[in-house]
Amino acid sequence: MTAQVQTYDYFVNGKWTSGSSAERFELRNPATDEIIGKIPRAGKEDVNEAVEVARKAFESSAWHEMEQTKRGKILMQIATLMRQNFEDIAKLETLNQGKPIRESKGDVAWAIRAFEYWGGAADKIQGETIPVTPNRLTYTLREPLGVTAHIIPWNYPLALATRSLAPALAAGNAVIAKPAELTPLTLLRVAEYGQKSGLPDGVMNVITGSGAVAGRALVSHPDIDGITFTGSTETGRQIMETAAKNITPVLLELGGKNPNIVFPDADFQRAVQMAKYAIFTNAGQMCWAGSRLFIHTEIYDKFLTELKKQTELIKIGPGLDEKTELGPMVSKDQQERVMGYIRSGIEDGARLLTGGQVPDETTLRKGFFLKPTIFTDVKATMKIGCEEIFGPVLTVFKFSSAEEVLRMANESQFGLYAGVWTNNLKVANQLVTQLQAGVVAVNDYLVAYPQTPFGGYKDSGIGYESGLQAVSHYTRIKSVTVNVS
Ligand code: NDP
Repeated sequence: MTAQVQTYDYFVNGKWTSGSSAERFELRNPATDEIIGKIPRAGKEDVNEAVEVARKAFESSAWHEMEQTKRGKILMQIATLMRQNFEDIAKLETLNQGKPIRESKGDVAWAIRAFEYWGGAADKIQGETIPVTPNRLTYTLREPLGVTAHIIPWNYPLALATRSLAPALAAGNAVIAKPAELTPLTLLRVAEYGQKSGLPDGVMNVITGSGAVAGRALVSHPDIDGITFTGSTETGRQIMETAAKNITPVLLELGGKNPNIVFPDADFQRAVQMAKYAIFTNAGQMCWAGSRLFIHTEIYDKFLTELKKQTELIKIGPGLDEKTELGPMVSKDQQERVMGYIRSGIEDGARLLTGGQVPDETTLRKGFFLKPTIFTDVKATMKIGCEEIFGPVLTVFKFSSAEEVLRMANESQFGLYAGVWTNNLKVANQLVTQLQAGVVAVNDYLVAYPQTPFGGYKDSGIGYESGLQAVSHYTRIKSVTVNVS
């Protein structure tokens, strides 16, 4: 069956538009390589226009001076429309990004919760009074930044967009989002729901185009008041350099090479199951993937035998098939990039325990699939041992003490997420306090809620998304003193 090719526009000033360029980018279904749609490639002029529109929308004060409770209700209404169209949005995410439908449903549910959370938080964004001297009243006002730019990656197209757009909107900003060129469809849908829910025109804009042109034009624009970026450390670094020219604040959530550490006293079956889940969810295309598995020597052989067995049972297939556990990678480029890492792992002398190839089934041949892959005998100096692979490739290490594993786990340029599996409170606490990671899960993995801060140490980023703390990235403080004598 040939998929229907749909022509999409992007969304600026409350309207669909194709911008000034006749050029359109082809979107593909990663499971079949079929073209499913075409979207405009916005140029610099189009980005300038979007920024002008957003600035006008911000200055009109219809949004940032709206009663905060009312602002929150509009965000709640977006969540309601998303809930009413839940199945459709999830299918669209899978069609465009490739992930199993069960995962897309989880992402859409997460995005709905984020709008609800920030809808509820909108009228709790407040300043404070500060005691100084008896004749002075000092207080702070929390003001929106103005126009914020949001650069969104392709691994969680809707959830990661919502994670930053919802707090920015709750705080009263006008926003411009640039989704990854590969995966714009669900966010475009939500932009329309924003309009239907009562967002004033120009408050939420979604512009499509490449990172190199539209993304760059957006983050270098002098009239942008804040930038939020999730993606590779390299692009994050470039964005930070660009932002420095305009002294624009940045919030960066970048790569990870996250340790997932299993001690002998952990719940064995759950730890195996979650080690698998931590790396093969979303075909491993996750900044928070548990991509470095550390297994204690006492259980090393038994654990690996069970993990290999379970990994080889994973059902690979198109994401829209309800039975699929591992979908395709997002693009041919990403599949080839990850195959390059697999080749380098073999050349560097790591042992390929399972996977390492595209699946044999003819039905999967056109898609960007890759078998779930496990390497053992990995060293931290190998490319596969230290770089972010961003694919279904697990690297395994052995350790014999908490001190040793702490040293190995922290021996990384990254510091985003970490998992610790033990029932020994003392050991758990030692690792929680000494692991260099912004987020740590004990006897769990891949847990993040709209209400929990999420951000990285070291090259994994600057600042925190989610949780009430995120407000500080979308507001500035004005300190006021009134002489009341
Ligand atoms: P990028 O970091 O280059 O892309 C992420 C987003 O940034 C996309 O929207 C992209 O647009 C945009 N972008 C790219 N260059 C610029 C720029 N100069 N200015 C502004 N925006 C820009 O990642 P890739 O998609 O190239 O993936 C490469 C690797 O990055 C992955 O293999 C993975 O290791 C890592 N990555 C990490 C993610 C995370 O969650 N931390 C998410 C995605 C990737 P467009 O795609 O349209 O060109």
